[in-house]
Amino acid sequence: MSADAIESEVPHRCVVCGCKDLWRQKDFPTGLGLLIVGLAIVLSSVAIAWFRPVLALGILMGFALLDMLLFMLMKDRLVCYRCHARYRNTGALTDHGGFKLELNERYRQESLRLQSANQDLNPESTSRSPQING
Ligand SMILES: [Zn+2]
Repeated sequence: MSADAIESEVPHRCVVCGCKDLWRQKDFPTGLGLLIVGLAIVLSSVAIAWFRPVLALGILMGFALLDMLLFMLMKDRLVCYRCHARYRNTGALTDHGGFKLELNERYRQESLRLQSANQDLNPESTSRSPQING
């Protein structure tokens, strides 16, 4: 870890691997988010099955309001594209953008190439995790 990786409580590169590409995401458990969406689908479907379309719309609007409130209240965190290290409580994150699929794909391909190269160098190794040298 280098001392200049963090400036004014905001990491501008990953402290674990040194990668400069970090992205911002909501600090909210994905499983809980999927559970909320699934609950909205089930409850509104039940209301439709009972021929209560106004109730179904009310349920969907209520969950949309809940989603909006969670989006506004939850803090952001930074995630490293290369090693997926997460940084919470990091102050202002305005200099980091959202998730970019092409950048993520570049690091995924890099990880696969490193994994393949490691298997070529050490064929007896059964390790599936990529080795990051740096
Ligand atoms: Zn990293």
